[in-house]
This record gives sequence, C-alpha cells and structure tokens, in this order.
Amino acid sequence: MLERLQKILAQANVASRRKSEEYIVKGRVKVNGQVIKELGFKVNKSDLIEVDGKPIKLAEHLYFLLNKPTGYLSTASDEKNRRTVMDLLMEEHKDVRLYPVGRLDYDTAGLLLITNDGDFTQHLTHPTYHIEKEYLVRVTGILVRKKIVELRNGVTIDMDYFAKPKAVRLIELNKEHQSTLISITLIEGKNKQVRKMIEAIGFKVKNLTRVRYDFLTLDGVERGKYRPLKIHEIKLLH
Ligand code: URA
Repeated sequence: MLERLQKILAQANVASRRKSEEYIVKGRVKVNGQVIKELGFKVNKSDLIEVDGKPIKLAEHLYFLLNKPTGYLSTASDEKNRRTVMDLLMEEHKDVRLYPVGRLDYDTAGLLLITNDGDFTQHLTHPTYHIEKEYLVRVTGILVRKKIVELRNGVTIDMDYFAKPKAVRLIELNKEHQSTLISITLIEGKNKQVRKMIEAIGFKVKNLTRVRYDFLTLDGVERGKYRPLKIHEIKLLH
C-alpha cells in the first residue's frame, strides 16, 4: 500500500509527522537512494528509506485483546501515576507506543483492544462505524419486566441524549442477593453509557464487564491477561 513519506517516517518513530516533514524539505530523506524533498511523495513499505544516510526501521503494527480487570485506567499513561492497562503488558511490549482502542471505566472489566495502529483506532472509534459492544451488567436490586422494557425502548442520558440499546436480555434474577444480571448490547459508546442508562431507570450498576466487541469475545483469555489478535481477526476489523 502506498503511503505518504512523512506518515511512514512518523510510524517508524523517526519523529512526529510535522518534524518528519521538516526532514524531507531539508533534504535529509532518501528513498531508494534518491533525495526526496516533495511532501506528498508516496512510498511503499518495501522501499529503502534513509534519514541522514541511515535506513529506518518500520515499527510493526501490534494488536492485542486484553481482559481488563477492574482497578486499572484505560490510558497509555497517567500523570498521577495510577495503574493503567499498560502495566498489564509484558516488558517487551512496554517500550512500543501502545494505547487502548476506546475506553473502559476504572471499575469496568472485560474486553479492551490495545494497538499502536492509529488508523485502526480512528476507524474503530469513529461514531459512524457501528460496532456492537456487549456488556454483562449486574444491577443492584430486582429489575421487573417493566424496567427491562423501559431500557429496551431507550432512555435519556446526559440531559438530552437518547440512548437506545441494540439489545437487552435478562439473564438472572437473584432474589437472595437482591440483584439482577442482564446483558446490554450497544453500538455507540458514550462516556459511562451503561451506568448512566441503568441510573436513568432508577437502579445502580454493581459490576460491569464488556464480554464482546463485534465478533471478538473473551474466550481463552483470563482476567488480567491478553493475546495477540489473529491475522484474520485484524482483517475483519479493518
Ligand atoms: N459503559 C459504562 O458505563 N462504562 C464502561 O466502562 C463501558 C460502557
């Protein structure tokens, strides 16, 4: 695939895209032995690209599926030094600039994708790209049928946002512990959407776990662990 030279330089962590443009204009970049000063110049990843006479090393794209435990922030770094999902990655993956695709709350567990592919992240998190996300929600109290129907029909959150889930399923009513387990499938992802929707019908979330992201599930991945996505999975998500 042909890409702009400055984008490839930025991907290879040579410098930011802006700085990479400066390198090109100043004649510091060669493609297949020729100095290229044109900013729109397109290259293939197989081309020999040199900066100041040194070949660049293209950073490969990495894609992981993490089973996030509660008690971790979904950010690449935290200025207050709180635990982030990056702390769950192995040392070898810690020096690559990885970040989560979207977010799960500190108190939410479950499926979170992690990558260093910016285009992939942008594509998946774009509001027009309707990916199904399924959550298992343990609610404090007993949700009678009327409440389930209310959720299914959609509720207003954030004063004026009408949140209508793709599906709501009752899984278990636990009279002894006075709680209800339901599954909610959303195609959007407003901040704290599930919690706010449950609050909108007058209840509170006790536990929240994302169990599915499109066709991906947590099968075979223990809490706190992660696995690389398979090639066919990456292709299907692109
Ligand atoms: N909805 C929430 O309320 N929290 C999450 O982490 C994800 C969806």
